[in-house]
Amino acid sequence: MSSKVYIIKASVDDGPKKISEKARRLFKAGGFAKCFNENDFTAVKVHVGEDGNTTYVKAPYIKGLVNELLELNTKPFVTDTTTLYVGRRHNAVDHAILAAEHGFCLDGLGIPFIVPDGLSGTAETAVKINGKINKEVFIAYDITRCQSILSVAHVTGHMAAGLGATLKTIGMGCASKKGKMTQHAALTLNISNDCTLCGVCYDHCPADAITLDDVKAHIDQDKCIGCAECMALCRFGAITCNWGQETEVLQKSIAEHALGALKGKEKKATFFNFLLSITKDCDCFDTPNMRKIVQDIGIIASTDPVAVDKAALDLVEEKSGKKLAELLGNVKIDTNCQIAHGESIGLGSSNYELIEID
Ligand code: SF4
Ligand code: SF4
Repeated sequence: MSSKVYIIKASVDDGPKKISEKARRLFKAGGFAKCFNENDFTAVKVHVGEDGNTTYVKAPYIKGLVNELLELNTKPFVTDTTTLYVGRRHNAVDHAILAAEHGFCLDGLGIPFIVPDGLSGTAETAVKINGKINKEVFIAYDITRCQSILSVAHVTGHMAAGLGATLKTIGMGCASKKGKMTQHAALTLNISNDCTLCGVCYDHCPADAITLDDVKAHIDQDKCIGCAECMALCRFGAITCNWGQETEVLQKSIAEHALGALKGKEKKATFFNFLLSITKDCDCFDTPNMRKIVQDIGIIASTDPVAVDKAALDLVEEKSGKKLAELLGNVKIDTNCQIAHGESIGLGSSNYELIEID
């Protein structure tokens, strides 16, 4: 059976107001109001954008979606979990301040920003699932306590996960710190003798896991959180992992954490993928104006998290005329892995019908 995925064409040149109106039209056309009941605590799951990043989905883009939820008399809150790496989203206080600076707050959206995994990322619920890798996953406590979810994902590439879209936003982005650790633990990175000692990875590593000696850089595996940012930044290809097996385990684990985060909300969630400013790396990078790897496409939405990601992948590849793996400069990565695994564990269907909205 195929799932319905709705699309409306859009570009960042439309400006925030028009983008917000288009997202709202998509919400209405898709009939997504059926997922949200009066008095639901509704998590509007976003990525507020790392400090310095400029390509994330901006707060004004989702104002129309928030207004829809308010008109349905739900109790929406905008939300994102704390990060493993040390930065401005590492704890709830700094994260809320950054969210407010980026407009994800009462002033900007008319709803509060709430960090769902507590002050330091340890407020969690152990959720039993029938996964192939995990039988129990650790999800941010307030994600498991709310009644419905409206997910807003920015479609990007990702050095280790291949595709950054809905499954990653829900799987990684709704996990507690322990849940994130479980997913990233799949990656063991190594530095080869191609290292030129340029020091970029050392300067950037958010976990202070990299040291330099006279010969090359080294990774302290006990400190490394597996974020793969060093790998994305190394211009000399000196940082590698086991592309086949390890990225596959990471991606499958992301899909299984998404299964846990959505448990009990199977008919109570809607997923928006914004295909605007599609970059090679995700919004955790603090780099301004990251280069687009494909021109803007629009916004897509569905109640099926697998279908909406498969549609995103297909649209990116169709628009660019290239495989996403080629756009990422890493033909070894399987960019369909999260989608295929999500389908195999009953999270959704990769068969979809694309319905265009004016
Ligand atoms: S970024 Fe690459 S070349 Fe530079 S120090 Fe790190 S591993 Fe070596
Ligand atoms: S993956 Fe690289 S950047 Fe990330 S924590 Fe480990 S060593 Fe640091």
